[in-house]
Amino acid sequence: MTISENIKKYRSELPEGVKLVAISKTKPNEDLMEAYEAGQRIFGENKIQEMTDKWEQLPKDIEWHMVGHVQRNKVKYMAPYVSLIHAVDSLKLLKEINKRAKQNERTIHCLLQIKIAEEDSKFGISRDEAREILESEAYQKMKHAQIVGLMGMATFTDDEAQVRQEFERLQHIAADFQKDFPELTEVSMGMSGDYHIALECGTTMVRIGSSIFGERNYN
Ligand SMILES: *Cc1c(COP(=O)(O)O)cnc(C)c1O
Repeated sequence: MTISENIKKYRSELPEGVKLVAISKTKPNEDLMEAYEAGQRIFGENKIQEMTDKWEQLPKDIEWHMVGHVQRNKVKYMAPYVSLIHAVDSLKLLKEINKRAKQNERTIHCLLQIKIAEEDSKFGISRDEAREILESEAYQKMKHAQIVGLMGMATFTDDEAQVRQEFERLQHIAADFQKDFPELTEVSMGMSGDYHIALECGTTMVRIGSSIFGERNYN
């Protein structure tokens, strides 16, 4: 299937209210443009430099999502245009995002990355750490960085029951937070291999890369 056919397939398959984030990391502009011409407007990248190059070169109505780990000293490069940062994992990072967003007279939406995978992955915080950030005076005072939901990555495994359990846990945490922070409406979970499970668990945003654009070549 072509990129364009894949985009159309996902757009018809995803329920209303679930956003498709096309993960275009490592892919050339031609591939993004093929998706764009098929109607796709949300693209996700995991490197700030690469995303900024693409933002400069591609149509300005694209919504750019940063889905990778963010180094604080690079926030300034994406602050003029990024619309959602998926993997915020500290108050320090949030402060930098707020500062840079303010300089650009913008609001940048963020998701807190919750560690749901069993494997000892480096990134993500616990439910308690996330709550601490949300309840902190420093965050409450921020006007330019706004947390709009949670993001998580399941364990990389063929065991569907385990993946389901991890996504259900994230959904449960999100529902719990929503009682105190109703603005946390988004749950970003599900990638090419597990998005069908994420859909059943109430995701609002799937991040699909290789099933749209083909396998990535890192070299
Ligand atoms: C690369 C990436 C994806 C997409 O992965 P695929 O398996 O290619 O769909 C989703 N989320 C994050 C955070 C990624 O880095």
